[in-house]
Amino acid sequence: MFEKKDKNCIFCKIAKGDLKADIKYEDDKILAFSDINPQAPVHILVIPRKHIATLNEADGEILGHLVSAARDIAGREGVSEKGYRLLVNCGDMGGQEVSHLHVHILGGRKMKWPPG
Ligand code: AMP
Ligand code: ZN
Repeated sequence: MFEKKDKNCIFCKIAKGDLKADIKYEDDKILAFSDINPQAPVHILVIPRKHIATLNEADGEILGHLVSAARDIAGREGVSEKGYRLLVNCGDMGGQEVSHLHVHILGGRKMKWPPG
């Protein structure tokens, strides 16, 4: 399963500034950057700076901060009015590939339901 700490975590490297990313928002607790393999015209990831492997390990304070920041970023990206999707994949069965908690913001096209 997912390690609590991972020295090779790519999102930790982005948070530290050791790996380049197209940063959309940052504060002392979280940051947001463009997904490298976008699945929609707007595809941004919002992550805690601290390494938290999955949603299962996250407390409400950081989750509230991530989700409200994601909502505000969606607004600045111009997708609020037409609608957008926030998505958290949790663990293997949830389709999580990077084991550092992240909220996907997807917008700019009609989202399908149900997801695959
Ligand atoms: P998930 O399947 O929920 O773990 O999503 C991981 C996401 O991280 C995928 O959408 C990837 O395209 C994205 N990703 C992986 N590496 C990077 C990177 N270096 N910069 C930006 N996004 C990345
Ligand atoms: Zn990490």
